[in-house]
Order: sequence, then structure tokens, then C-alpha cells
Amino acid sequence: MRFDVITLFPELIEPWLATGVTRRAFASGAVQVRLWPLRDFADGPYRRVDDRPFGGGPGMVMLAEPLRRCWEAVRRDRGLPAVRPTGVAVDVPTVLFSPAGRVLDHAVVAEYAGPQGPGAILVCGRYEGVDERFVQACVDVELSLGDFVLSGGELAALALLDAVARLQPGVLGDAASAAQDSFHPGVDGLLDCPHYTRPDVWDGPHGPQAVPAVLLSGHHAHIEAWRRQQRLLRTARARPDVLQRARARGALSAQDLAWLAAQGYNL
Ligand code: SAH
Repeated sequence: MRFDVITLFPELIEPWLATGVTRRAFASGAVQVRLWPLRDFADGPYRRVDDRPFGGGPGMVMLAEPLRRCWEAVRRDRGLPAVRPTGVAVDVPTVLFSPAGRVLDHAVVAEYAGPQGPGAILVCGRYEGVDERFVQACVDVELSLGDFVLSGGELAALALLDAVARLQPGVLGDAASAAQDSFHPGVDGLLDCPHYTRPDVWDGPHGPQAVPAVLLSGHHAHIEAWRRQQRLLRTARARPDVLQRARARGALSAQDLAWLAAQGYNL
């Protein structure tokens, strides 16, 4: 799948694509990323990309015209008509990162990570945001990283790209499969269990801390049962909303529910 990122700061995104385990997804082309420096599409000796807001007030607003030129260039580069006629189904979605968007979660990431996904054109805002007329004319989806304000959409774009990349087959080794990670259907959408590594007794700041004995038992079925219980317990404590959704989907067994009840969590 292919993602085109429209940004004033491609240099913020580049190093991420070349670093860490997700590098493989980008290097192999499983997830193609093209960076489009917005300033290249701006006019005049100063290559202006922003201006003062109509109506007054603080800050600057991103100009619609350079965004439009860049967006049309991306579409042409993808072999699509520069402008999608109105009323025609979305060919490749244009995503704007914005606090007003749907909050990114596993379901959104999985949609973009799927093998049939057309990818997306990702638009990173800066300043006070983007001229609303560009949003109305060209944006299909708005996505948010959460209920707080960033100074640019690049971190949100990176969050999406990184999460999509780690879901690609072969990017994480088998042992670290994404199917064991928090929110994945592979663990019924629950939070991850706690992890431990050597030494088996750690001399911590408040005295020796041992690893739960079951993890040293070599008994695979017991270990898996313990991990399931820990996932349930953590989710019950930290994200009761996530646990309720798992239950509503029928993802919790009678054994799960009995164990939770024994811990004082009656769903
Ligand atoms: N005036 C805007 C914030 C602009 S911040 C407001 O109050 O809603 C500048 C840019 O950062 C935005 O255009 C957007 O692209 C990005 N951004 C800020 N917060 C974000 C968030 N929570 N999720 C995704 N992108 C965000």
C-alpha cells in the first residue's frame, strides 16, 4: 500500500522510516511512503504557505492553494484524475490530521493496514490549521491522536504509519507477533500481559523482586493461562471500557468471567 505525506517538514518523518523494526516494512515497499514537501508547491520568492486569519486573531492559517497544488500532484502521480468528480466513490482517501478527527485506535489502524488498502494521502497541518475550504473540497477523513493539541500533524502521521507498518506480515519476528499486542483481535482486544526478563530475582530499590514462578515453570499451558488472567486483570483495572466491549462481543469465556469475578470484577 502507498501513503503520500503532504508536510512542511519531511525531514521530521524521514528518520523514522529508516529506524527500528518497522524499517523493514518501509524498505521492502510493503508500506510505500512518499514525502511531499509542501513548500515546493508554494508561490513567490518566499514560497509562502500561510497567511493571517480572516476575522483577526492569533496565529497563521495554511493557504488552500499550495495544498491543492500538492494534493493534485500526488493524485496525478498515483495515476488518478487530479480532481475526483463529486459523487464518485473515494479512490484514495485524503486524511487530514486534526483534533476534530476520529481518535486513532486499533480498528482504524487495521483498516489502513489491510492488504487491499489503497493507502492514503496524509495531510499534516501546522500553525492554527488549514483553510477550511481545502478541508471541504479535498479531505475525506479527519483523524486525531487524542484530546490534546500538537503543533503539527507529522507526529500523528508517524503514529499511523508506524502502527500500520508493525501490522505487516513479517515485520515483527514471529516471537513478537503483533497478534499478541494490546488491542489486537489475537488477544480478544485486551491489554497486553506484563513482561519479565533476566535476572529471575532483581535487586530493586525496595529489595529483591522475583519473577512470577509460573514463568519459570516451563509449563506452556500454565504460562498461557496465567498470561490470559493477567491480560484480563490489567484490562479490568486500566480500561474497563475495553473489557466491557470484549464481553459484549462474546470474546470472554465462562472461565474468564469466573476468574474476573474471583478478583472482584463482576461484569
Ligand atoms: N487550532 C487547532 C490546532 C492546530 S495545531 C485547534 O485548536 O484545533 C496544528 C496542526 O497540528 C493541526 O492542523 C493538525 O494537523 C495537527 N494536530 C494538532 N493536534 C492534533 C491531534 N490531536 N491529532 C492530530 N493532529 C493534530
